[in-house]
Amino acid sequence: MTHRPTSDEIRQTFLDFFDELGHTIVPSASLVPQDDPTLLFTNAGMNQFKDVFLGIGTRPYTRAADTQKCMRVAGKHNDLDDVGRDGTHHTLFEMLGNWSFGDYYKQEAITWAWMLLTDVYGLEKERLWVTVFEDDKGDLGRDEEAATHWKQKTSIDRNHVLYFGRKDNFWEMGDTGPCGPCSEIHYDRGPEACDMQNVPGHVCEVNGPCARFTEIWNLVFIQYNNLGEGHLAPLPAQHVDTGLGFERLVAILQGVDSNYRSDLFWPLIEQTQSMANQSDEEREANLTAYRVIADHVRACTFLIGDGVLPANDGRGYVLRMVLRRAVRFGRRLGFTQPFMAELAQLVIEKMGHVFPELPQRADFIEATITAEEERFLRTLDQGLTRLEEIMGELQVRGKTEIPGKDVFFLHDTLGLPFEVTRDIAEEHGFTVDEAGYRHAREEQRARARAAGEFALEADEHGRLYPQLLDYVREQQALESLRHDPYGPLQLQARVVGLIQADALVEKAGEEETVEVALDRTNFYVEAGGQVSDTGRLYGPDWEIEVAEMKRPIEGLPLHVGKVVAGTPRIGDPVRAEVNTGRRWDIMRNHTATHLLHRALRQVLGSHIAQAGSLVAPDRLRFDYNYERPITPEQQEEIERLVTEAVLANYPVSSRQERYREALEQGVIALFGEKYGDEVRVLRVGPAESPYSQELCGGTHVSRTGDIGAFLITSESGIGAGIRRIEAVTGRGALAAAQALRAREEQAASLLETIRENVPQRVLRLLEELRAAHKEIDQLNRKLARESFEALLDAVQEINDVPFLAAQVEAPEMDTMREMADWFRDKLGDSIIVLGAVIDGKPRFIAATTKALTRRGVHAGQLVKQVAQVVGGGGGGRPDMAQAGGQDAEKIEEALAQAQKAAEAMLR
Ligand SMILES: [Zn+2]
Ligand SMILES: [Zn+2]
Repeated sequence: MTHRPTSDEIRQTFLDFFDELGHTIVPSASLVPQDDPTLLFTNAGMNQFKDVFLGIGTRPYTRAADTQKCMRVAGKHNDLDDVGRDGTHHTLFEMLGNWSFGDYYKQEAITWAWMLLTDVYGLEKERLWVTVFEDDKGDLGRDEEAATHWKQKTSIDRNHVLYFGRKDNFWEMGDTGPCGPCSEIHYDRGPEACDMQNVPGHVCEVNGPCARFTEIWNLVFIQYNNLGEGHLAPLPAQHVDTGLGFERLVAILQGVDSNYRSDLFWPLIEQTQSMANQSDEEREANLTAYRVIADHVRACTFLIGDGVLPANDGRGYVLRMVLRRAVRFGRRLGFTQPFMAELAQLVIEKMGHVFPELPQRADFIEATITAEEERFLRTLDQGLTRLEEIMGELQVRGKTEIPGKDVFFLHDTLGLPFEVTRDIAEEHGFTVDEAGYRHAREEQRARARAAGEFALEADEHGRLYPQLLDYVREQQALESLRHDPYGPLQLQARVVGLIQADALVEKAGEEETVEVALDRTNFYVEAGGQVSDTGRLYGPDWEIEVAEMKRPIEGLPLHVGKVVAGTPRIGDPVRAEVNTGRRWDIMRNHTATHLLHRALRQVLGSHIAQAGSLVAPDRLRFDYNYERPITPEQQEEIERLVTEAVLANYPVSSRQERYREALEQGVIALFGEKYGDEVRVLRVGPAESPYSQELCGGTHVSRTGDIGAFLITSESGIGAGIRRIEAVTGRGALAAAQALRAREEQAASLLETIRENVPQRVLRLLEELRAAHKEIDQLNRKLARESFEALLDAVQEINDVPFLAAQVEAPEMDTMREMADWFRDKLGDSIIVLGAVIDGKPRFIAATTKALTRRGVHAGQLVKQVAQVVGGGGGGRPDMAQAGGQDAEKIEEALAQAQKAAEAMLR
């Protein structure tokens, strides 16, 4: 490039270069990671391709390039403290990158990077240095492949190729997963850029401590999968992942010594100067403040543009903190009124053509910034004054560390973020007790948790929900959210709050889980045993499927669901539709629960009290105190009483009443429930003589006839003195009765009879079975006797010695041993070999007499030879031995072998 290029040109040149090399230019991903809950902000270009590297996602292209907006506020890469104090650290930055997904590899990545930097951008070759991986652990050796490409495929000075170890030149996604060596390109700013010239013995070097060499581009070659504990397996597909620091590149190409002097930041600094009405000298004297403001206003603009709203936790806290930090530095330039929105306008103007979400959201971004500034300005003076008092007191006592509890007080009560307090403390030569601050913060969270109801789900989200309520009150100017689950099941409302990925957002992404606050809702939130409603929210061009409801804090009913179409935004009108069929099932079960309660008291006694309940669409569950199971007669009586109340078609009504007066009228209140002064009384039956009256916040049918059928499906004990009844109504009762009939029909068909005859048929079958068993026993005994006699016929003689080898029926080895003894007794000096199949395996026993063992017969050796035929082995005494094998089918063959063995022994 011949003229001094603008940042827009530098960015476009990069994208054009890779476009021509067949790369798909993709848009920057959101700063809020879409699928990665482990990541606070997108912090590298590769974040959006993580699934591809992990092998669980694919893209329709194999080459990609982009500029990615990134945010870093903590960690080794960026300490917020450095932002503004030097020329190279930023919270928000752009990273240019090119990727190969199993496509090109080291040679192309290296030669193209070299070509772009030298031929296209025109950097001097002498100023470029590269580093290549050499394993200092010795496991992987040197990346000679990359080194060779650098030395042979580019015109770099061969002495400028250096080797570094794991810390500098090996990239890992995490403890496991894709990883590989990398090759970094460094730029030599010249000896004058060294900021350690006065340090004795200092030598400027790549990866050294001074500012002379700057890393500008990292080429990562993903070739291994780390399986854990350092075991690296080669990946089937090798990838390239590169990251080129845009702000640094722009500063180098524009020939300025600080990123802030480049056209990415300088216009913001000039604008700030003109708004503060300061001279150039004043500007240079306050340069840190100018730099912090320029950096932070970019971060605020982009964060809000991606839907992050100021909050006291998570992403919202980061936004609040950088915004307040900028405002505090603005105070040092004399700003006492909101000024950030005007600077945000300039950011949007300059960056809008690259990041179109900024101009689309311009009004929202500016309004959010100004509202947060105003909120902070209300307490800023108080906070600053209090901090000065604290420092004054410490000084008197000769101390320089501000206690953690004071820092927390400033944060929690006066809205002074920890980082701002630390800035100011450092400016006055004080330090802050960070550990003490964190401890105080944790203690407060623990207290909030201990407060019970208040922090039902606030554990993880901390103060996210209170923030949302604040937002609804302040930004949406609503006193409270109206919750009326007793009214119509369809309702017109408005979206007043959205939470996605643990942050307040202004719009919700498709296919994502979202929590929605409406200015009014008809959805029931789980309480008193009745489950939450489900349903749908229809916006102008979007739809949310509501899967559950929750009320994390009082006064904040939230619809939790998935965006199935479009992009819901705050302010959108919405039609809220409760799932009607499901809700009716729930209402039938709830009213029936009250009838069941009443019937139980009538049948079992008025001491019966409810110990818990569940009212779901498919069933109701009622737990109560009682010592014994109910009898079948009691169960029928209870069902009959409930059914009579249904058939009476009693009206069901509710009324707000004073708690005491309700109790005086005999209304049933539940144990363990807290009631306010005003309570809702649910009555079934005429008001003057109600059939049932209970305190209840649930939803009910309007007449008991709506319940339809009622059936108890189970009764059981669930603990000492607590019984549980489950029952069904309406459609559930029909389904239960039909299932019962189907089972009876199935039994009848299996028994080849009609349903009415099933019990008699079963009784007859049982009798037949008993008779059959008796007959089988008799036959078995007879069979044993006969086969025993038959076996005697099979006795042969070998050299005048009786020999029997036979297969017998025997349930176990003991039986075989007894049989062998019996034969031996009967035959005198003889050889007996019996085989049987026991548990599917062949078993053998061999027996002879002492006299024959003296003639050379050995039962152990005999049975061993037999067992070999069936793939087994065994042994034992010379006169009695046993063996087993595998192949039951060869049992006959094995017994034939017994004869040969016996003949050999008697020869
Ligand atoms: Zn140096
Ligand atoms: Zn109830």
